[in-house]
Amino acid sequence: MSSVFVDALNRLDAAFEHAQIEAESLERLKHPMAMMQVSIPVRRDDGSLSIFQGYRVHHDDTRGPTKGGIRFHPEVDMEEVKALALWMTLKCAVMNIPYGGAKGGVTVNPKELSRLELERLSRGFVEQMADFIGPDTDIPAPDVYTNAMIMGWMMDEYSKIKRKHSPDVITGKPIELGGSLGRGDATGRGAYYCIKQLEQKRGWDPKDITVVVQGFGNGGQAAARLLHADGYRVVAVSDSQGGIYKDSGFDVPSLIQHKNDTRRLAAVYCEGSVCEMIEAETITNEQLLALDVDILVPSALGGVITAENADKIKADVIVEVANGPVTSDADATLNERGAFIVPDILANAGGVTVSYFEWVQNRQGFYWELEEIHRRLERIMATEFGHIYDLAQVCEVDMRTAAYAHALNRIGGAIQAQGTQRFFANHTGE
Ligand code: NAD
Repeated sequence: MSSVFVDALNRLDAAFEHAQIEAESLERLKHPMAMMQVSIPVRRDDGSLSIFQGYRVHHDDTRGPTKGGIRFHPEVDMEEVKALALWMTLKCAVMNIPYGGAKGGVTVNPKELSRLELERLSRGFVEQMADFIGPDTDIPAPDVYTNAMIMGWMMDEYSKIKRKHSPDVITGKPIELGGSLGRGDATGRGAYYCIKQLEQKRGWDPKDITVVVQGFGNGGQAAARLLHADGYRVVAVSDSQGGIYKDSGFDVPSLIQHKNDTRRLAAVYCEGSVCEMIEAETITNEQLLALDVDILVPSALGGVITAENADKIKADVIVEVANGPVTSDADATLNERGAFIVPDILANAGGVTVSYFEWVQNRQGFYWELEEIHRRLERIMATEFGHIYDLAQVCEVDMRTAAYAHALNRIGGAIQAQGTQRFFANHTGE
């Protein structure tokens, strides 16, 4: 087993002590329900054939159909997908949305594919998985290096195979194809709502608070944009090529505009469509993680803060927009120092929550206003942040352990409602 899945299991064990869940129910959660691996043949533009490996794991469906994104990345493998699927089960339980957990992926570097090749791969994934996904069984969504357009292709392919318009088979679609308003920035927005809760508890004045964001994609950009709009000082951001640092803070909308126009991260200030370079330091991703700031928002890949570099991390608060950015052996070092970690299964759960709203709207054929999406998302994030914060205080544990325990309580309740040994060994018939 790779460490990422073992990591996830370690954390389940740690939370078990603080949760009202029977050992037998916990054991069930350690074994994914079903795992599918497929080979996807893709005709390349030059006429040659490439074959890619695709994965989908259903982790647990006790609380509802399984739900989770599809990742296109060269390092995707079954062990990673298993861990990500387990986190989805926990995340849906944390947010109290009626889903279980799943995840999918393809081992591919999408940057090496043309747009037509990418479309063929996306449709090929669905062709192979059409009986493993479905609106009532397993509903995918975007993740790293997959986006709304890819979700639209996948929905279209599924609808063709089933000969039935099926927008509810996948979420994160373009608005024009049945996507929800507010899904685009939901992951970063959810993290932002968590920070707003902390702001109230700690009496922060945003202009005194410095923020760095690792990974300037969907999640990272939205979190940076909303925090900047509230007056927070976003002093560094990065992407896979490296980072930029400016002590007085960046104008985040300019960075986003330039990144989206050119696909490059650069220190710029834009007025209208004209962007000018401004002075800033170029830093590596390692340096960025070690900056002495108030809030660190890892929003790229998992496993970036490990036992090796945990003692270099100086941020007081870490808000995990990425899935699994901190490994379990780094937790102890960070907790000892008193770092406050808002764990991934809470901090990035805004994405799956608005995905759920999208699915609900697709099924009822009635679409909500953006304000309604934001209002509902904020209410759920604030409520669950509050529950986890309080549980952490009562049990005297960190936020991650409390979030896991909170999720286990909900999943345990559902599993145990169907009976465990405690029920079945008692033959009185009551
Ligand atoms: P994305 O593809 O939009 O963006 C990823 C960003 O990370 C890009 O800017 C990329 O350049 C950067 N990156 C890649 N490798 C890097 C590296 N080694 N160092 C620094 N930056 C690097 O992806 P996303 O959807 O924003 O997802 C980012 C993270 O958030 C992932 O861990 C994902 O699982 C998690 N997440 C995303 C969603 C969602 O709705 N998109 C929901 C929950 C969790």
